[in-house]
Amino acid sequence: MSDRNAELAAAIEAVRAASRVCIAVQRKLVSAETLEKRDKSPVTVADFASQAIVCRKLAEVLPGDRVVGEEDAAELRDASQEALAAAVADRVADEIGGAEVSQVLDWIDLGGADASEGRYWTLDPIDGTKGFLRGQQYAVALGLIEDGEVVLGVLGCPNLSGRGGTGALFAGVAGGGALELPLAGDGIAGDPVRVTSLTSPAEARFCESVESGHSNQSESAQIAAQLGITLDPYRIDSQCKYAAIARGDAQIYLRMPTRKDYREKIWDHAAGKLVVECAGGRVSDVTGRPLDFSQGRTLEQNRGVVATCGAIHDEVIEVVERVRAESAV
Ligand code: AMP
Ligand code: MG
Repeated sequence: MSDRNAELAAAIEAVRAASRVCIAVQRKLVSAETLEKRDKSPVTVADFASQAIVCRKLAEVLPGDRVVGEEDAAELRDASQEALAAAVADRVADEIGGAEVSQVLDWIDLGGADASEGRYWTLDPIDGTKGFLRGQQYAVALGLIEDGEVVLGVLGCPNLSGRGGTGALFAGVAGGGALELPLAGDGIAGDPVRVTSLTSPAEARFCESVESGHSNQSESAQIAAQLGITLDPYRIDSQCKYAAIARGDAQIYLRMPTRKDYREKIWDHAAGKLVVECAGGRVSDVTGRPLDFSQGRTLEQNRGVVATCGAIHDEVIEVVERVRAESAV
């Protein structure tokens, strides 16, 4: 087994375990009143538990590897958050068969590495928390960055329909193809996935965020109209959008900036971008610039994201730039 295969196996195993924890919490959440009350604590519990599980697994299999996670345990270490910390530890214990609170907090903090130089993992323990709370789509996203390039990506998508039922996992290693694997399985064998081969953007279906605060939906509607697209947008939370492009459920992903000062986070894009590229697609920002993962925790040099099935990318960027120029006037 090459090193990449060992890394891939560890990442897949970690994402599967974290996904199981998220599924268990979401199942309780949907059946409880919390959804109506808009109580955010269940998603918080799942978020921390997911990060603890992934960091623990990576530390066990690849000791010394750095992890840049979205969360840290500072809040949980506060005496006022004892009940929350205990709930997180319970969820982790359910998955791994026992765990002390202090140990779980330390696992979460393994995700506190600096996003600087060399090699590190980046983790979004629950990407699409709004979708998670609505009982809809979310993803566990884990990418490996080396010298500013994403070299491996794994996306666990517990509510996406997969080949063997509900739940799908996508994986890619730079230079290789993208795979779809069963979320509930084990091992690293899967089925190759490819983007749609499409030469005219007019035939495309485009996907975007459900949340209008995360992507400018009126701009994307104008872009779609100018491209001659007639299909309704496919609105789906999280990096499931990248999975949709990779396996041909959609052909264009538009993430149009809603604020001048917002910078995309590396954990929101690393795994998804790689999966799309391995599946034969292209990913850039809204100006056509490649996503630059060498700038720390954010994509400082980029604005928004455009991912496509490939051949139509330049044509899509041209229209994106035109519409943005018009709306800036
Ligand atoms: P999505 O599910 O595609 O809507 O994206 C969810 C992600 O959007 C979260 O993980 C946030 O990090 C990110 N996010 C938060 N605010 C913004 C914003 N103003 N623009 C773009 N993304 C955002
Ligand atoms: Mg996220």
